[in-house]
This record gives sequence, C-alpha cells and structure tokens, in this order.
Amino acid sequence: MPERLARHDILFEPVKIGPRTLRNRFYQVPHCTGFGVEKPWTQAAFRGMKAEGGWAAVCTEYCSISPESDEKPYTSARLWDDEDMRALSLMADAAHANDALAGVELWHGGLFAEQRESRLPPLAPSQIASDWDGVTVPKVMEAADIRRVQDEWVAAARRARTAGFDILYVYGSHTYLPTQFLSPVFNRRTDAYGGSFENRSRFWLEAIERVKAEIGDDCAIAVRIAADTLELSGVDLDEGLAFIRAADPMVDLWDVTIGSMAGMGRLDAGPSRFYEQGYQLQWSGRAKEATAKPVVVVGRFTDPDKMAEVIRGGHADLIGAARPSISDPFLPRKIEEGRYDEVRECIGCNACYSRSVWGLHLGCTQNPTAGEEHRRGWHPERFDRAANAEEAVLVVGAGPAGMECAMVLGKRGFELVHLADAGDDIGGQMRWVTRLPGLGEWGHVVAYRRVQLERLPAVEVVLGAALDADAVRDYGARIVVVATGARWTGDGMNGITRAPIPGADASLPHVLLPEDVMVAGARPDGKRVAIVDCEGYFTAAGIAEILRAEGHDVVFVTPYDVVAPTCDQTLEGLRLRLHLHALGIDLRTALTPTEILPGGLRAEDGVGRPVEIEADATVLVTQRLSDDALYLELTSDPGALAAAGIDAVYRVGDCVAPRLIADAIFDGHRLAREIDGPDPAVARPYLRERPLIPG
Ligand code: ADP
Ligand code: SF4
Repeated sequence: MPERLARHDILFEPVKIGPRTLRNRFYQVPHCTGFGVEKPWTQAAFRGMKAEGGWAAVCTEYCSISPESDEKPYTSARLWDDEDMRALSLMADAAHANDALAGVELWHGGLFAEQRESRLPPLAPSQIASDWDGVTVPKVMEAADIRRVQDEWVAAARRARTAGFDILYVYGSHTYLPTQFLSPVFNRRTDAYGGSFENRSRFWLEAIERVKAEIGDDCAIAVRIAADTLELSGVDLDEGLAFIRAADPMVDLWDVTIGSMAGMGRLDAGPSRFYEQGYQLQWSGRAKEATAKPVVVVGRFTDPDKMAEVIRGGHADLIGAARPSISDPFLPRKIEEGRYDEVRECIGCNACYSRSVWGLHLGCTQNPTAGEEHRRGWHPERFDRAANAEEAVLVVGAGPAGMECAMVLGKRGFELVHLADAGDDIGGQMRWVTRLPGLGEWGHVVAYRRVQLERLPAVEVVLGAALDADAVRDYGARIVVVATGARWTGDGMNGITRAPIPGADASLPHVLLPEDVMVAGARPDGKRVAIVDCEGYFTAAGIAEILRAEGHDVVFVTPYDVVAPTCDQTLEGLRLRLHLHALGIDLRTALTPTEILPGGLRAEDGVGRPVEIEADATVLVTQRLSDDALYLELTSDPGALAAAGIDAVYRVGDCVAPRLIADAIFDGHRLAREIDGPDPAVARPYLRERPLIPG
C-alpha cells in the first residue's frame, strides 16, 4: 500500500475561515465551465465530483448578481432570482454530500458586461470604452446606481445563503466592477468614489461591509483581488496590499490572483508554454504581508512538494486550483493516500478555458470525464465491468486516442487487450508535439497513461508492430479499434481556399511537412524558409521557432488576421506572437497562399493584391487528414472479418477526424465506455438540460 510522505501532512490540516472550517488546504477556486445555471445538474455533478475527490471547498464560476451584469454569450452563473437560487442549490448540496464547503463568486462585470442579453447599459465608474468591444461605452454610475448595485450584491448574497453556500465572494479581480472603481485608469471620477485611494476603495469596501453585515455571521466572506493588476489598470502591488489591509477586518478569506483583462496583464490561468507552476507567487505570495486571515493562491499546482513549500514558507494558507482540479478531481485524495504517480497532472494547455469561456461546454485534454459526470454518467476513477469483457480486443495505434481507449478497456475489466503501435514507444503524435518549444509539459498526457497501462495486467503494449489488414485479421482479436491518427496533407489542402495549393507537393525537395521536420529530421535546403500556416494553432509556430533557432531566416505566412488565432482561445496567442517576433521571425498575416514555387511562394493579401515571398523551402502546415486506410480496408471486406472471427471494427481519434488532442482522448474514452452498448460506433445520446415545456 502506498503511503503519504510525512512532509505532505501539512496539506491536510483544517483551516478556519470565519464561521466555517475547511477540512484541508485544497481549495477549488472559482472557474468557468459554461454550465452556469443553465445546466444545474451538470454544474452540481461536476463540482460534487471534486468534493468527492477531496477538495475542501468547491466554488462556482463568476456568478452574476443582476441583469445589469450580463456577459452573454459567455456563461456565468446567476443569482438574479429564486429560480437561479434553486438551480445553484443543487451544487451546494453536492458539495455538502461529499463533506466540502460550497463557495459562490458573486460578480458584477461593470464595463466588461456588455449586456448583450439584457440590453441594459453597461455600468462603470467612468465613461471609457471597452477594449474588448469598441462600441461598448458604459454609463457613468450615479449615486443611485452605486447604491442599487450594492443592494443587488446583498440580495444575491441572501439567495446564496438560502441556496446553502458557505463562502460568499465579493469578487473584484480580473478588472471587474470593484477593481474598475479601485483603478485610477478606469476610475476618473471626482466625487467621493474617485481620486484618492480612499475614495477609489469606497465602492468595494461598502459592498463588502454591507454583505458582511447581512450574512457574515452565517457564511464566510471571501474577496478575490488581483495583488497586482500588472497592466493598463494601474492597481499595483502597493495598492493591492493597501486594499487588503483596509478591508481585512471584514474578510474571512483572501483569494489572491494577478493581472487584468487587458493585454499581457491577462496572466491568470497562464499556459504551461510560458508559465511554471507557482508563477503567480511573486505577487500573490505577498498578500500575507497585509493580512493574518487565510489566503488562497493559484498557479497550476500539481506537485505536493511545491504545495507544502508554499504553506510552510508562509506564502499562503490554501492551495487554490482551477485547472489541476479539472484535470484530476481526485488530486487531494491521491496525495492523501500517497498515490502520487496516479495523479492526472494538468498539462497547462488551456483547452478547458477555450471550451468553457465562449459559452461552450467545458472539456479537458487530460480528463475526458470533466463535464460528463452528469450527462454521460462518467466517473473519473470508477468503471463498470463491460458486458463483453471476455472478448479479446486489439487497439491499433498508441496515440492519445488509442492509449486512452486501451486504458479504459482495461479498467472496465476486459480480460485481454493489446495496444499495438508501429513505433518504438507509445504516445503517437505526442512523441514529437512535446518536442515543440514550450510544450514539454504536454508529456503528462503520455506519462499518466503509461503508468496506468503498466498497472493493468490485462493490457499488453506491443511496440514495433506495423499492422496491415492481414495482420489485424490474423491477430486473434474479436474486437478491433483502429486509432491510427492523422497526417499533415502534402498538397496544401486547406479550409481557407477549400482546395489544394497549386505547386504544393510534399514529394518535392523544397516542400516539407511537420512530420518531415519533427520526425524524419528533414531540414530546408537553404537559409530561407517559409512556413505556411492555415491551421492557426501550435504546430506552425513551434516549427518556425525550431528552424529559427537553427539559424534559418523564417517567414511565417498565414491567411488569418493574426498568427495562431486558436492560441488566443487558450491565452497563449499574444505572448506567442511577441515571442516569435522577438526571435526575428517575419510574421506575415492576412496572406492567402496561392502557389508554392521552388523559390518561394505566391500569396494574395486581404484586398486581393498579389504578394511574392522568396524562400528556399516551404513548410506546409495547412491541415491534417485521417490516416484511415487500415480502417477502410478492414471494413470494406466484412466476409474476411467474419472468417477471421472479428465481431466489430471501430475507429477512434484523429483516424475519425483530426481534432484537438482533447477530442482524440475523449473519443477513445467514449468508445471504451460504450463498447458493450447496442451500437458502440455511434455515441449514445446524453442527458440534456433544457426548460420543460408543458404539453
Ligand atoms: P490520435 O491522436 O488519434 O491518438 P496519433 O496520430 O497521435 O493519433 O497516433 C496514431 C498512432 O498510430 C501512431 O503512434 C502510429 O505509429 C500508429 N499507427 C498508425 N498506423 C498504424 C498501423 N498500421 N499499425 C500500428 N500502428 C499504427
Ligand atoms: Fe489542464 Fe489542459 Fe485540462 Fe485545462 S484542459 S485542466 S489546462 S490539462
């Protein structure tokens, strides 16, 4: 039996926050999900799962206090009325059923609530347009507005108490309304709410005071603040700490982050590409200078040694987590039980953020069960024995989809599963993707599954096995899962022109593909290289950086208006572009490639003007195509399958359609969960949450 190391005992001490007590130091800070009050059962099951996994508290996402704080299409929770209250009470109940406290992050967005649903004017301390949306210019809050918003905060707090919440936030960080008042940049007022630090603090202090007076005996009052807004908001560490001192007598728990909504200040939820575990501490770790109350900090903590160090070093009292708790809801329990190598470590890819913020449904690369607890009934740690577990299964391809599928089949009690791959190790595309600059931490995708696969006696990994259709048929399996992935297309096929690019042909010496560079080690013949990126995510940027580091003159050509637009959804984009620019890579946007030539390429700019770019070679990163030949050959001959004793052939992952790594893993997981269903090839319907119409 594994045992917890004594040096981690400190993480399991209880912590008192006002009238409540946290059972340990693991705290799931508020984070977006896309569930809000629209999917109350999903919300409850998602947070409840973390409570079951050992988190001492689980919090909602930002939770709007009134229709004047409406940020649609982004999905916040809401506590506008009693129906919202009942919706969120499910989550509080789920937390309590698992001995955790429930927190609610009461929120007013001010300028950053664009009111697209309510159509009410956005409110702000001063009339400065939103940098997100230049046509959103707020109303300057009058005295009556200030009073009303504070009243709404109190009313929402009352509902939260009735819903069963233990921790109520007067949330102000991420430059929402309270910080807009505190900020000399957003707040240009000359009345009692603007000017001096005391005046700029007044709105937030009054709101805290009024919520405290109403609720403080029953619930813990938490305040979320940026220790330093870092950019374009003007609330530096000195003022951040001064505010903490000023509000401290009324606050039971300080939840300290960094950054603002603007530019590079958006450092909260920093991607692993640029930020290490604990990266916020240089700012947030200073909060303890201003308060003796418990402080929670975040920084993608997954390493118990680092966590214990944070506590022992006096930097914070609670280990906050959003992403690590999504990636592994059972992180605290695994540490508590000394099962360190079973932790499903967050890779810091921010696919969760990209999937939850834009009004979507949260998903996670590492944890395909995240967001599926209610609607698909998936538990991240528990698996039913499959009804057909005695049938031998062959999974062909050990990329993310194949690894996940084989692992879940093993956990579902299959008695014999072979995971075969042509390569000399498992991992598939991850074997080279993780060698792209900054993506090393994505290696946890393989590391976690490697440990799990090794522990499953019924699953055997067979390497160096490039299987053709005959070999698959002769293998002796009853069920075959093809997880052979995808390849970059060699003809420049892309979604922008919806056609191959004339002259693009990867068999020519001056045309290279990502795998040529990353796997075969091919290099451009000559100093100048053009990278054509129609994908807009991490691949082209990574290859550009590698070739630049090797001394090539790199021109990066993309039809999009910015380099790597998908990286904006994962909070990597801005910093990535600055980084590539600083390396000396020539970034050329809004150029649609029209022809690849031996001496470079032709393109068209945004208004149709031709542009010529000289290069000795071109790397095509236009799109991937499924590597589905094996699957199609197998399924084209049902008679041969039957003769070989094969009952079913399925495919998963990029072999079905090349998508995010998160989707490939989800796909492999789904098939394994449903492999004993009536038609495993087709996903079972999932529970939907929608208003019931009588009739
Ligand atoms: P996904 O993201 O869908 O999991 P990847 O492209 O990461 O897919 O991985 C596909 C894996 O399948 C690679 O490791 C590759 O070596 C392996 N593979 C592809 N074709 C075969 C085959 N015919 N026999 C064995 N392994 C294969
Ligand atoms: Fe971590 Fe990526 Fe999962 Fe988000 S999606 S929790 S960043 S592994």
